[in-house]
Amino acid sequence: MGESIMLEILKETGALLEGHFLLTSGKHSKEYVQCAKILRYPDKAAQVLQPVAEQLKDLKPDLLVGPAMGGIIVAYELGRQLGIEAIFTERVDGKMELRRGFEIPKGSRIVICEDVVTTAKSSLEVKDLLEEMGGEVIGLASIIDRTAGNVDVDIISAIQLHIDTFDKEDCPMCKEGLPYVKPGSRKIK
Ligand SMILES: [Zn+2]
Repeated sequence: MGESIMLEILKETGALLEGHFLLTSGKHSKEYVQCAKILRYPDKAAQVLQPVAEQLKDLKPDLLVGPAMGGIIVAYELGRQLGIEAIFTERVDGKMELRRGFEIPKGSRIVICEDVVTTAKSSLEVKDLLEEMGGEVIGLASIIDRTAGNVDVDIISAIQLHIDTFDKEDCPMCKEGLPYVKPGSRKIK
């Protein structure tokens, strides 16, 4: 499946919004991504993750781990397509943990699953955790790769997306006088 079809699915499900956004970082952007909007449709989740599952086959993972919340459905759907186990880690007091009686068999070949990877910081935290527990992390899979090559990690993704962010003073949409929206809230300036 081509990236243009992926883009279309992201837009039609509302996962990729275009406009003028104030991000939690304080920066402004023209695009905003919310992967949960695709994953609410099981058929779309299956469709966007099919090319990712295809690439994962060659890696022959034994286990998929999706960090909560974003990674859970991604790991589950990839696990369904590959016919392998999918579990998740979750944050407890700010620290990533494996709970619920989940186990990492020694030497198991693990792929970490995310909905979107931007800095890969939390994925690397999960990698450390899983390796401390005796697993071998062999890859990182994601629907959207937003790293733009700024991170020294190989990501198997359905689509690579680069979203420009601006300081308020340099924001082209602000210069045009367009009102901005804070995603996740209904308030409009
Ligand atoms: Zn702006």
